[in-house]
Amino acid sequence: MCAIECIYDIEIRKQYSKDKSSCKAVIPKGVFFPKTTLEVSEIVKKSLNDNFNISIWGAGSGVNGGAIPQDSEEFVISLQKMDKVEILEHDFIGRAQCGVNTLYFQQKCEEKGLFFPPDPASADISSIGGNLACSAGGMRGYKYGTFRDYVIKITFVDGKGNIITTGCETFKWVTGYDFVRLLTGSEGTLGIITEASFKLIPGNIVKTSIYINFESMDILVAGFLKLMKNSIIPSNAEFMDSYTLNVIKEYLPCEHKNNGCVLLLEIDSYSYENLENDLKKFKKLAQGWDYIISDNEEVSHNLWKGRKRLRTELEKVKPNVFSEDFVLLYSKIPDFIRFTEEICNKNNIFFCNFGHIIDGNIHFSSVYENDEEKRHIEKIIYKISEYVISNGGTISGEHGIGKYKRELMIKEIGQKNVDIMQSVKKVFDPHNILNKGKIF
Ligand SMILES: Cc1cc2nc3c(=O)[nH]c(=O)nc-3n(C[C@H](O)[C@H](O)[C@H](O)COP(=O)(O)OP(=O)(O)OC[C@H]3O[C@@H](n4cnc5c(N)ncnc54)[C@H](O)[C@@H]3O)c2cc1C
Repeated sequence: MCAIECIYDIEIRKQYSKDKSSCKAVIPKGVFFPKTTLEVSEIVKKSLNDNFNISIWGAGSGVNGGAIPQDSEEFVISLQKMDKVEILEHDFIGRAQCGVNTLYFQQKCEEKGLFFPPDPASADISSIGGNLACSAGGMRGYKYGTFRDYVIKITFVDGKGNIITTGCETFKWVTGYDFVRLLTGSEGTLGIITEASFKLIPGNIVKTSIYINFESMDILVAGFLKLMKNSIIPSNAEFMDSYTLNVIKEYLPCEHKNNGCVLLLEIDSYSYENLENDLKKFKKLAQGWDYIISDNEEVSHNLWKGRKRLRTELEKVKPNVFSEDFVLLYSKIPDFIRFTEEICNKNNIFFCNFGHIIDGNIHFSSVYENDEEKRHIEKIIYKISEYVISNGGTISGEHGIGKYKRELMIKEIGQKNVDIMQSVKKVFDPHNILNKGKIF
């Protein structure tokens, strides 16, 4: 008999009924809080024995409904009490249990003079396990890579309760199939990830921020590409269109001119000399541009303030937020922006576009108050998704599929791919008890 803490209190269960997506809340039957991998395995074995399904919870910051139970007969397994971190500073390795908060992990690496680059904008509210399960990206993806590029070994529990460790704490590893990367991004459908090891890189990076106003998205994209082609590779490059800027206008460092948009850059380097050289180069390339370069941390903080507050400010416009996750090639971005503007204005929908331009990752967003508005926006998002797919893009660069984008996934990758994925699922979780109804 499994003696692991399971909470049945309704107020606690409600906290595990809803993530940050637009998907409907579902209150689970109970919530387990294991502290070890062995306990996770015991819960899975109990679920097989007692015939219940498990929905996996990292920190609930997901925006696709992946952590929401499928029905009220399911139990949630929360990894939040698995929160140990270990940094092997001389080997450039970080180990984390999966309930560890991502920002906390980044800070622990920093304390040892090391750098863990993956940096989802939700680092302060998400977990290492959730980030691995979604293969979270974020702002530094292009220059430094995402979660998938840093994880080298994981321990997980499959749908039969087996504890499996895969990968190796070395910087190269090709001994057999790469299940580390298969589990990363599998959204909890193949196993419950409990522990992981990551490659770290040297810290002590110096950086500065640049805030650039452009007159239109066409000019912004051209300006950004001019920098890239001249080898200025920002560690962060975010864009915000004029609709986004209106939402956060009280947090902007300068006046927002009508229809203008902003490119926000972070430039970094291992030496001040190189950073200075990049800035000199930037100033030459940016002649005639309207920009602010930060010369200290406080100014940088102010330049990024609006971008960081965006989700909170959107929730003030209307309480529920759609946050899409499209990715397109650079050359397709201006037309995408025009398309969304036309379709949303024609259908009288509030929207804005912002995101990680350096990856072509656009967070088209909208807000709603009631079910009628929600359904109306969903129809438009479906059309926008079709537009993205027909232009060679993807419906998800970092948020994943969850419950929310199942139908669209088939549209993008086709039934043959889905069939193979379902066969793989059967190998890892033959009784379909882990995150049932997610992805498929
Ligand atoms: C303001 C805001 C900004 C965001 N910015 C970004 C961003 O820049 N980049 C980005 O990639 N995402 C971003 N997101 C989305 C979200 O934070 C990520 O998807 C994140 O990876 C979810 O982590 P979590 O710990 O909250 O997981 P949850 O939301 O709890 O779960 C997400 C999925 O992972 C599964 N899961 C969780 N833990 C495990 C585990 N240990 N083993 C197996 N499966 C598990 C869940 O079942 C679910 O399917 C943002 C969200 C918000 C609200």
